[in-house]
Amino acid sequence: MAANVDGIHHVTAFCDDPQENYDFFARVLGLRFVKRTVRFDVPDKLYHLYYADEQGTPGTVITFFPMSNLDMDEGVNGKGQMSRTGLTIPEGSVEYWQDRFDEHDVEYSTEERFDETAIAFSAPDGVQFELVTGESDIEAWTGADVPEEYGIRGMYNATIHSADPQGTFDVLETMGWERVGRADHPQAGDRVRYEAPGDAPCATKVDVLVRPNAPGYVQGIGTYLHVAFSVENDWEQTEVSQTLRDNGYITTSKKDRDYFHSQYITEPGGAVFEFATKGPGFTIDEDVDELGEELRVPAWLDVDIEYLKEQLPEIDTR
Ligand code: ZN
Repeated sequence: MAANVDGIHHVTAFCDDPQENYDFFARVLGLRFVKRTVRFDVPDKLYHLYYADEQGTPGTVITFFPMSNLDMDEGVNGKGQMSRTGLTIPEGSVEYWQDRFDEHDVEYSTEERFDETAIAFSAPDGVQFELVTGESDIEAWTGADVPEEYGIRGMYNATIHSADPQGTFDVLETMGWERVGRADHPQAGDRVRYEAPGDAPCATKVDVLVRPNAPGYVQGIGTYLHVAFSVENDWEQTEVSQTLRDNGYITTSKKDRDYFHSQYITEPGGAVFEFATKGPGFTIDEDVDELGEELRVPAWLDVDIEYLKEQLPEIDTR
């Protein structure tokens, strides 16, 4: 296609308590809390919390809806949705992270595959992540107590637990991504890896997990909602959407997410793929030094921000 889908933009999952979520992602993993906003359709009920690198660069962004206000059930992280996010750590930092997880009582398992080491773990509310050794052009955030030499440098990959692997391969190929490898595992299922064209600084891999006998995905706390891929701008988003439509996929209308503009498809394997523009970005309503400090809502959302602050649980970020 003429336009590039050159990496992952962000991933979004359902968590439980916002404070617990903040303490884990900002304090234990040492990511930067870059945006405290709300889910625009239920602004007095749900936060939308964003963690990333210093600036909120596409490819580093992990977002959550904390569902503790809405009484959502626990989900099932199964076949038919994105199942895990990989975060890039430098070579030589595996022992540091294993020790840090031991200190913070985070259970993990370590696996070698392709030519990388992956430390798999769950966040407090069950959302699955792993730290993966690899290359990245992203600088680690140093505002937490993780030393710079060990810090997380953006996302590495997204794992899609596909209910229709061939269908997922086809949509990735329509997006211009290329199959680069396959790793077989007797229990964990086979893993087929795709890589993005272009030279994004990180988050250029998707692993399609082929595990046909696993239980199906049920949306709820501890599961992913979607994975978003980067497109350069609105014009390229339209090009990508047109290519997808030409190949039989159904794309939604464009949505204004304030920090980016989005379109979605549900791919044949069950996962929701979003296509998000790189701009305008997270500094549209806050200086880079102040990202995440105050509750922010878009100007077009006609609500009283003081009322929202009263309705939503407090988050201590000191
Ligand atoms: Zn999204």
